[in-house]
Amino acid sequence: MSSKEICPCGSDKGYKNCCSIPHQNIAIAVTSEQLMHSRYTAFVLGKGDFLMISHHSMTRSHVNISELIRWAQSMKWMKLEIIKTQDGGPNDESGIVEFKAHFKSRGKKEVLHQRGKFIREYGNWVYFGLE
Ligand SMILES: [Zn+2]
Repeated sequence: MSSKEICPCGSDKGYKNCCSIPHQNIAIAVTSEQLMHSRYTAFVLGKGDFLMISHHSMTRSHVNISELIRWAQSMKWMKLEIIKTQDGGPNDESGIVEFKAHFKSRGKKEVLHQRGKFIREYGNWVYFGLE
């Protein structure tokens, strides 16, 4: 393996120059796809605080974040694949991101294939729920 650090989301910029930036300031994620990347990385790294603040306040109470983190930490996350995005740009108010999250569970390859809905809350992109 090369010495170059890869961000869990797949970027070769490395975590420090990639998802750690929106993790410190969610306003940095200017597209819903960027927020999706940073949420995936938060799952991989077990950053529950970021998963909470990047979740819309209306649907946040539907998730048990500690259970979700426990589940996420028991998997070996391989990669995030963005299949399709719809809206979710710097001038949009909502967007859809279709993605596949590849992981291994007890050595077996699994894929989580979902379409997530993102909307702006207080100007920042947040995850609303499954489309
Ligand atoms: Zn990243």
